[in-house]
Amino acid sequence: MKMTTALDCIFCKIVQGEIPSAKIFENDQVLAFLDINPLSKGHCLIIPKTHAEKLHELPDEPLREILVVAKKIALALNVSDYNVLQNNGSRAGQVVKHAHFHLIPKTEDGRGLNFSWNPHGKPSNEELNQLAEDIRKKIP
Ligand code: 5GP
Ligand code: ZN
Repeated sequence: MKMTTALDCIFCKIVQGEIPSAKIFENDQVLAFLDINPLSKGHCLIIPKTHAEKLHELPDEPLREILVVAKKIALALNVSDYNVLQNNGSRAGQVVKHAHFHLIPKTEDGRGLNFSWNPHGKPSNEELNQLAEDIRKKIP
């Protein structure tokens, strides 16, 4: 499978100014700009300036900063209903292989993110507790 590197990454090119974008916020770690194919008015992308494909590959600092910036933008957009979406990997819907967070306003007329929620079975409390313990043990 071909890996996207910073050299051939469209979001890195946006960070570098090699591809134009409608920027709405920028600091030393984070850039936010409007999505070219918005699901609703104000749909934007918040990205770390340094290249990493998935959330768990990002350093903690820009990761924290991204949520702080999302809050600033939500306040600026003055939206009461919105989704923050972050896709990792093709099966999860990630198309651009530079980690990014969508902020997608949900409008009264239903524009914004639509998704289906399909629960997978109904685990018992014992199963849930066992799984929680298994995961807990692996978190440093
Ligand atoms: P993903 O499916 O990877 O989570 O979402 C990628 C998003 O990036 C899509 O919503 C798409 O419209 C947006 N996008 C892709 N290329 C560009 C671009 O060159 N400029 C901007 N502003 N958005 C882009
Ligand atoms: Zn990149």
